[in-house]
This record gives sequence, C-alpha cells and structure tokens, in this order.
Amino acid sequence: MAAATSIELAAEGAKNPKVFEFLKRPAGNLLINGKWVAAKSGKTFEVENPANEQVLAVVAEGDKEDVDEAVKAARKAFEEGPWPRLSPHARTRILLKLADLIQHNADELAELVSLEGGKPIAEAQGEVAASAAQFIYYAGWVSKIYGETNPSAPEMFNYTLREPVGVCGQITPWNGPAAVVAMKWAPALACGNTVVLKPAEQTPLTALRMGELALEAGIPEGVVNIITGFGETAGAAIASHPDIDKVAFTGSTAVGKEIVKASAGNLKRVSLELGGKSPNIIFADADMEAAVRGSAAGIFANQGEVCCAASRMFVQEKIYERFADGLVDFASKIRLGNPFSASTTMGPLVSKEQHERVLGYLKAGKQEGAQARIGGDRGPQERGYFVQPTVFTEVHNSMKIAREEIFGPVAAVIRFKDENDAVLQGNDTTYGLAAAVWTRDISRAHAVARRLRAGTVWINCFMAMDPISPFGGYKQAGFGREMGKEALELYTQVKSVFVKL
Ligand code: ADP
Repeated sequence: MAAATSIELAAEGAKNPKVFEFLKRPAGNLLINGKWVAAKSGKTFEVENPANEQVLAVVAEGDKEDVDEAVKAARKAFEEGPWPRLSPHARTRILLKLADLIQHNADELAELVSLEGGKPIAEAQGEVAASAAQFIYYAGWVSKIYGETNPSAPEMFNYTLREPVGVCGQITPWNGPAAVVAMKWAPALACGNTVVLKPAEQTPLTALRMGELALEAGIPEGVVNIITGFGETAGAAIASHPDIDKVAFTGSTAVGKEIVKASAGNLKRVSLELGGKSPNIIFADADMEAAVRGSAAGIFANQGEVCCAASRMFVQEKIYERFADGLVDFASKIRLGNPFSASTTMGPLVSKEQHERVLGYLKAGKQEGAQARIGGDRGPQERGYFVQPTVFTEVHNSMKIAREEIFGPVAAVIRFKDENDAVLQGNDTTYGLAAAVWTRDISRAHAVARRLRAGTVWINCFMAMDPISPFGGYKQAGFGREMGKEALELYTQVKSVFVKL
C-alpha cells in the first residue's frame, strides 16, 4: 500500500475525495473582486486539525492592504455593479441557487467543518443543513422588503424606501465555520449589500469553499469578498475601515468592545453577537428525563464551544442530587474521539489556546471548592485538544466558573430555593444571550421567561434555533438581532421621500 501523503494523515477520517481535492488546491487565496489572489505581502498561515495537531492547509494571511483592495471591490460592486439593482426575483433565484449548492455539496462542507473545527461529523452535517436554511429563508425576504406610505399633508406625498446599508464587514468565530458565515451573508446579500468577510483564523477553509459556491451560484464579482487572516490585523482593519458602512461581529465580548471603539472613526453601524453564561433553570416539577437530556445537549454539544451553552444549571434544591446524577450519567456515556469515528460523540476543542483556557478553568473550579463529579481534566488522547466532559457541583454563582464564559464542555450546577431565587441568580450575570426554564407549570414557565433578561428563552427545550426567529443578546452579550425579520433592520436603512403635489 502506498504511504499516505501528509494531507491524508492530517485529514484522518475524512472520506470525501472532494475534500482532498480542496485541501490540495494552491494555497494562499483570498477572494477579492471575484478572483482568488495571494496576500499582497505573500504571507500565509497554517490551518490545523485539532483532532491530531497536523497541518490541514496553508492559507493567505491577509492584512490591511488586502482589506483595502476587498473594500474597493465591494464598494465598486455596490455603487456600480448589478447586485443592489437586480430585480428581487433575480436575487432570490441566486440565493436559492447558493442554498442548493450548499445542499449539493453538504457532505464535503461538513467534512471541512469537522476537520478544521473538531465537531463530530453528525453535528457538522446538521450545521451545514442549517446554513442552507439561512439562504432559503432570506431568499424569500428579498421581494418583501417594504417601505411605507405615510399619511401626509394634502399637498405632499411621503413614502419610505428601505435600502441596503452598503459595504458590510463581517467577522466570524470558529465555533460555527459554516453556520455563522451563512447567518452573516444571507441577510446582507438579500438586502442588496456587498460584503467583506474575515473568517476566524482557526477555521477559514469552510468559508473559502462557501466563497467558491457563492461564485458558482452567480453572485457577481465584488459582492462577496473573503480575507483570511488574523483578528488584530485583518479583523481590526475591517472594524476601523473608513469605507465600510457596517460591521457585524460574532465573537468574544472583549473583542466586541474593541470593534465598537474601532468603528467610531466613520461611525459605521455595528451589530455584535458576543458571549454568554446562560442560566438553565430546572424546577422540581420538570420532566426530569427530558431536562437532563436537553441540558446535557445544551452544554456538551459542539464540545460546549457555543455562545448560548447551558453553562450555568440552576437546579431546585429538592432535585439537585437527582439532576446532578443524571447529568453525570449522561457525561459518562460521551465518547471522545476523532470527529469522523462513528462512536465519537464529542470531538476536540478547536485549538491549543482554547484547550489551555478550558483546562485553566477546570483548575480554577477545583481551587474554588467546586466538586468535579465527572471529568475535570484533559482527555486521555496523546494528540489533539481533548477535554473530558465535566460536571461541577457545589458551585456558587459567585465562582469564576459561574461568572466567566468557559467555551468548553463544563457544566456548573448551582442550587436554588424558589422561583424568585432562580430568576435573581439567573439574571446575576454580565451576559444575557439565552436562558432556559424546565417546568410542567405553564404559568410559571411564561412568568419566568418574561423575567429572564436574555435575548432568547427556551421553555422545556434548549438551543432551539431557526432562521425565522431573531437571535442576539441583552446586556454585554451584544446588540442587534441576527436571523428572523429583525436581521433585515441590520442590513437596511430607511429613506424618507417627500413629493410636492
Ligand atoms: P475567540 O476568543 O473565541 O477566538 P475572538 O473574539 O477572539 O473569539 O475572535 C472572533 C473573531 O474576531 C475572529 O475572526 C478573530 O480573528 C476576530 N478578532 C480578534 N481580535 C480582533 C480585533 N481586535 N479586531 C477585529 N477582529 C478581531
């Protein structure tokens, strides 16, 4: 048998020949004005497979100069190109074509998501299907972006137009290499904007493949541009660029604050989807089995690298031990391993840096007196950034592991007495992205949902998401709402027109 080349070794477990073709394509390409070009500096960086620490690919390290070129292309496409002026039906068709292409190439995209991000292949397949759904949903909106006619004085006719914002900078994180890109592109493009995307440096491959599909779908040159590179250089250049009209960012709260500061130069519009420390409240009358299963998925899916993860579990005193036992039992059945293995239910964390961060929190939790009932350490694997699924009990809401976003498979299980105590503790956080409540009492469920200060509240479920429904944060979890019709507001602005009769 011939010896495997290094790409075969790095992409261990991947099966789709198109993935290998993609990984072997010439390295170092940015998408600018419909063409694949090297970074002006000629610099490149490596993309790693977090399951085995091998180099999957080498991509262009774009910088300020490349962002400038991409913005020029996006500006020209916006001011002079066909995209914002296409008939709504033509734009709808192209977005539907892109959705079709994503579905048609779903297997390849899912393998890329797993390879660079580490999530089990079944979860990656779900993510890719959800990405296609974003384009399908917003394709429908293109022909329904209405202005209004206003009741005006008899000699005047006044109406409004809802117009695209212009050139949109979009900066995405690594935990949803396909889904977050789709959440950014679909509404922006539906509204007739042009975009410059900077995907996370840990997971640029899926975005690059989606860029190829965007061109194949017929999105005109300059409408979608992609600059791979690092946050402090390429990302910062987008946030501060004087000719970008709007920046949409998903990532950490710390970087979100930097984006706001950098955006002040030209007062670009900003939308931020940031961190979370979501309260997941389980009352004594809840369906215990469903609550354990839903809560476990809420903290262990995607290795817990989810902004709205169920990281703080508030459990009513009476059922505290029973719930904790259930969660521990669930965690004990999780199988860490290569994302492509059929038995794997949890992959590695995305990077060495993230691995060290999460291990640091595990240490901090033990030092603060929380009890690691299961897990609490790295995985047994020799290679790869694995962390054991961990359940901490005896956690107080004031502990570091209950206050700071860990972004790993680490549940903090906290006691509460009654409804008021649950709400007060749940809301005692600087974040406010999501929350959940488990109870059979329908009045209590809705009353608690109203009192929770979070952008999304789940009742008797966790992490339900759909393009139809807005998603975003209260407090320091950010502002602006992605998905749903609300995202149209991020990507349009209103013009009032007066006509003298
Ligand atoms: P994480 O800590 O989860 O990696 P970050 O908020 O650091 O999340 O990163 C999310 C995205 O923001 C990535 O694409 C990253 O490159 C980018 N980024 C990081 N720092 C900056 C910055 N100063 N300005 C703009 N973008 C940045």
